[in-house]
Amino acid sequence: MEKLDSYKVDLKGMSEGTVSYSWHVDDDFFSAVQGPEIQQGQLDVALRVKRTAGAYELVFQLDGTVKVLCDRCLDLMDCPICAEHVLRAKLGDEFVDDGDLIVVPEDDGMLNVAWNIYEFAALEIPLRHVHPDGACSKQMSATLDSLTPAEEEEKPIDPRWSELKKVLDNNKK
Ligand SMILES: [Zn+2]
Repeated sequence: MEKLDSYKVDLKGMSEGTVSYSWHVDDDFFSAVQGPEIQQGQLDVALRVKRTAGAYELVFQLDGTVKVLCDRCLDLMDCPICAEHVLRAKLGDEFVDDGDLIVVPEDDGMLNVAWNIYEFAALEIPLRHVHPDGACSKQMSATLDSLTPAEEEEKPIDPRWSELKKVLDNNKK
């Protein structure tokens, strides 16, 4: 995880006021983070850390494009990211991350935000992500089509139902 050391934010060391950070995250970042959804991407990340009495507000801005697997053809597709997310943090005894507030151990006082950056980017990916119509990898689509049984195919009627149907039909007579 040494690759991600440059994403450490020194909370304890900063005085009251605002400190800004900026990073350009790329494919190396995503392979180091090893998140499930995003394998590649290029993002400009700006972070503004504001220290007020006893607490920190971290405002992240992400701008760029990540690559995710298309749900339809499983080939990589671009997914634009433009988002702002806010984290709150404070110093305490031991590390806690409840999703809203992060408690950073006071004796270290450093917060590595690499995973947070990854998560904020992943949050922006739509639930269903597919290439625009016709833009899917043709080779992959063809392979998948041949593996997927045709949906229109009629299912044979359960024999018990056909027996019941006969009874009902007889009653009608
Ligand atoms: Zn596709």
